[in-house]
Amino acid sequence: MRKKIVAGNWKMNTLLKDGMELAKAVEKLEKEKRSDALVIIAPPYTHLSRVNDLIDSVKLSAQNCASEESGAYTGEVSPDMLVSAGVEYVIIGHSERRSYYGEDNELLNKKTKLALSKGLKPIFCCGEVLEEREGGALFDVIREQLNVGLADLTKEDISRVVIAYEPVWAIGTGVVATPDQAQEMHKFIRDLLVDLFDKKVAENMTILYGGSCKPSNASELFANPDVDGGLIGGAALKAEDFLAIVNSY
Ligand code: PEP
Repeated sequence: MRKKIVAGNWKMNTLLKDGMELAKAVEKLEKEKRSDALVIIAPPYTHLSRVNDLIDSVKLSAQNCASEESGAYTGEVSPDMLVSAGVEYVIIGHSERRSYYGEDNELLNKKTKLALSKGLKPIFCCGEVLEEREGGALFDVIREQLNVGLADLTKEDISRVVIAYEPVWAIGTGVVATPDQAQEMHKFIRDLLVDLFDKKVAENMTILYGGSCKPSNASELFANPDVDGGLIGGAALKAEDFLAIVNSY
């Protein structure tokens, strides 16, 4: 049985005090959840260590990490630093990192391999922009992102990776993929994993959907056989909404 996960990406939101309150509220509601999904939160870097002291069942993720181990990289945060702050997961390749900061598939592969070598579990994001979907290139785009982004990973490595399919046109737009669109792409990704690794890897892979997922649409998305949970942006900033999504299972 593959793991179900609902992960909240807080992005550049909340000051430390509010973030700590939110983490506490998520931890409290998680204890009462009616679902077996693992709950993960990804606060900003500045909050990680403090938030780690407030959570137990809820797991901690960073939103990004450096591609280098240590040294003269002003402003960067290394995987080792994240581990030392109690972080277990790291989001890699979010579309905002790809588009605003020019992170390409090769760089994301480097980050993924470094994060894995330091014991972190990557939540590796992929997704097409609207023109790519409308132009019919969507499957080629996802294939390329995963071919290159997950290159050189061993089967042991990939067993510690979570994939998040996030169509860029659905992120923060209020436009959600239909359940059929989500299922179609998740199935494509799972089939691709058979080619890249093997059937067992594909069957065990947790593939999350992300993009305007909220309490009102989560259950129909999660009802799909290849959708194993969600990566949640806006709706993760309210503990009640976030846990309502978790309880959609
Ligand atoms: C995200 O940024 O990963 C995301 C899915 O955002 P939203 O839920 O706000 O669309």
